[in-house]
Amino acid sequence: MTPDERRVELEAIAAEVRVCQRCRLGATRTNAVPGEGEPETEVVFVGEGPGFNEDRLGRPFVGRAGDLLVKLLATLGWRRSEVFITNVVKCRPPDNRDPEPDEVAACLPYLRRQLEVLDPALVVTLGRHSMARFMPGARVSQAHGTFAPADPETGARAALTFALYHPAAALRSSEVERQSYADVAHIPAALLEARRRREQQPANPGPEAVVAQAVAANPPHQNDEPTLF
Ligand code: SF4
Ligand code: URA
Repeated sequence: MTPDERRVELEAIAAEVRVCQRCRLGATRTNAVPGEGEPETEVVFVGEGPGFNEDRLGRPFVGRAGDLLVKLLATLGWRRSEVFITNVVKCRPPDNRDPEPDEVAACLPYLRRQLEVLDPALVVTLGRHSMARFMPGARVSQAHGTFAPADPETGARAALTFALYHPAAALRSSEVERQSYADVAHIPAALLEARRRREQQPANPGPEAVVAQAVAANPPHQNDEPTLF
C-alpha cells in the first residue's frame, strides 16, 4: 500500500467513526475520536477510550494523560505526530466509566481495520483494557515493560505488543509514573526485535512472492550446458 492509499483508507475509517451509532456511546458523545498520527509509522499506541477533553476536541490523548504520554515519547526522541495514537473505543463512556463488553465488541472492527492498514511492527498498549486485546490473559502488573507477539485477530498481523501502564494511572501514583519512564526505555529494543521478526517471516506473502521464492530456490536453466548435438 502506498502512503497515499494508507492515508485515504485511514480517513475513510475515521469518517465512518465520526458518524457511527453502532453502540450506545454514540448517543452521549460530543465528538467521536478515531485516532490520528503518521500513516507510515511502525508504532501504534492504543488507549482505552476518549475522556472529557478528547470528547470535546475529537482527538486522542489531549488532556493530562496525553501530556504525560507526550513526555514519555520525548524520552525516546519521538513526537506524537510521528506515531499513530488511537483507542479501543472511539467514543467517550459517560462519566469516564469503563466501556461495557458489548460497546468494545461493537467498536473493535474500527481498530482492526486501522491496524490492517497501518500494519505496525509494534503496538504499545496503554493500560489493561487495551492490553487485554493484544495479550489475552496477561496482567498489567506483570506484563508492563515487556513484549509478546500481538494476537493477529486484532488486525496487527505481524506485530509485537509492548505493554505500558495507562498514563492516567501514572498521574495517580508516582511509583507507576517512575515505572512508566523505566518501561518506555525498553520500547526501542522491542521495536528492533519486531523488525527482526518481520524480516524473517514476511507477513502473508502474496502469490508473486511465493513464485519469486520458488524461482530463487530453483532458478530456471541453472546448470544449462550448451547443447552441441
Ligand atoms: Fe460507534 Fe465505537 Fe462510537 Fe460505539 S464507541 S458509537 S461502536 S464509534
Ligand atoms: N485516555 C485514553 O485511554 N484515551 C485517550 O484518548 C485519553 C485518555
